[in-house]
This record gives sequence, structure tokens and C-alpha cells, in this order.
Amino acid sequence: MTNQVYDVVIIGAGPAGIQAAIHAVRRKTDVVMLGRIENSSLYAAHVENYAFCEGVREGKDLLEAGHRQARQFGAEPVPEDVLKISQEGEHFHLELESGRKIETRTIIFAMGVSKKKLGVPGEKELSGRGVSYCVDCDANFYKGATVAVIGDRIYTDMELARRIPCDFILVLSGETTKEDIAKLKEPPALVARSLAELIP
Ligand SMILES: Cc1cc2nc3c(=O)[nH]c(=O)nc-3n(C[C@H](O)[C@H](O)[C@H](O)COP(=O)(O)OP(=O)(O)OC[C@H]3O[C@@H](n4cnc5c(N)ncnc54)[C@H](O)[C@@H]3O)c2cc1C
Repeated sequence: MTNQVYDVVIIGAGPAGIQAAIHAVRRKTDVVMLGRIENSSLYAAHVENYAFCEGVREGKDLLEAGHRQARQFGAEPVPEDVLKISQEGEHFHLELESGRKIETRTIIFAMGVSKKKLGVPGEKELSGRGVSYCVDCDANFYKGATVAVIGDRIYTDMELARRIPCDFILVLSGETTKEDIAKLKEPPALVARSLAELIP
């Protein structure tokens, strides 16, 4: 018996992977979508900036709906990580964590990006519940809260975040200078150059 050769294998089950799977499978191709939705950075997020989705939606629910859609059109979800990829002639061979091997003509990489982490206690556990990596996405959720804004693009992010009435603590870890801070109409209550300076 010969092994099935898939037309497309998508590595990633986040929004990019799911959308790719929906498009690919509707072309009547054999599609496998690898990866776990719970490993998507959207999984723990509260989302209110997606078009056509009113109100605040849970990332988990959006991912589950997208997953169902991809499956209904015929994509085969495989909730495993790929550990190894090799090429033989015109085909690719993938080895999954369970030991399963998959052969395909095409691979789409949709594995997301990893954010620069601070490595402070609670950061991982509170991701999506107080810890955010996108001012544009989440500033609105923190109205009235005391917020620390940390990063290299802090000046731009501050300008955006300033539209939300928060008390800001600003931690500088990038290219933002004192002159940049002075340009802000209402400079933040506290400006620190490092976490250590803020929390001695
Ligand atoms: C706290 C938080 C809040 C956010 N809020 C919003 C918001 O409100 N609005 C918004 O638009 N965006 C928001 N984002 C950003 C959004 O989550 C990302 O832009 C989006 O998830 C990126 O999608 P992606 O498919 O590229 O990657 P991801 O969603 O990160 O998915 C990556 C996928 O790749 C898989 N994968 C990785 N390596 C392997 C491997 N070796 N084998 C198999 N699979 C693999 C993972 O299992 C996962 O399924 C938020 C992010 C965070 C962290």
C-alpha cells in the first residue's frame, strides 16, 4: 500500500493557519493542518478589534469556530507539533511528535511569532488577563487601571495608549529618549529605565 501524499500541509493552527486551510481545502486539495489551537497566541486573548465580530470575543471561541469551519470543508486537523522536515525529490517528509510521518507536495508555514518576554513572575500565567503584547489590541481593556508600558516602540505606543484614561508608569527599555518623553502633553507619573529601577 502506498502512503497518501497530501497536496498541502499547513504548520500552525492559529488564525493564519486556519485561514490558509480554509482557502486551500476549498480548492479540492487534500489538506492537513498541524498544531494545537491552545498554543496560538490568540487562545487566551479577549478580542474586540476583529471586523464582523461585535463585542468582546474570546480568542479560544474564535479559534474553535475557525477550526470547525476548516474541518467542515474537509481539512484534516492534526493537533501535533512537527519535529523534523526533509525533502526527497519534489516531496517533503514531516515527522510528528507521535512518530507519524506525513508526505506532502507543499508546506505552508504559519507558526506565528514569539514576543520578547520580560521573564517576570506571573507573566505567562497572566497573559491575556492583565499582561498584553499589543497596545493597539488591548489598551481599551485597561481604562482606569495603572499600567506599565514597556518596550522599544514606547513613544508610539504611549501616544496611542494616551487616548485611554490610565495612570501610566513608563519603563524605558529601548530607543525612547528624555526628549521624546518631554514631547508628550501629559508625561507619565513615573519614568524608569529598567524594571530594577521600578521594583528595587
Ligand atoms: C494577550 C494577547 C492578546 C491579543 N489580542 C489580540 C486582539 O485583540 N486582536 C488581534 O488582532 N490580535 C491580538 N493578539 C495577537 C494575535 O493573537 C496574533 O496576531 C495571532 O494569533 C497570530 O496568528 P498566527 O496564526 O500567525 O500565529 P499563532 O496564533 O501564534 O499560531 C501559531 C500556531 O503555530 C503552531 N506551531 C508552532 N510551532 C509548531 C510546530 N513545530 N509544529 C506544529 N505547529 C506549530 C502553534 O501550535 C499554533 O497553533 C493578541 C495576542 C496576545 C498574546
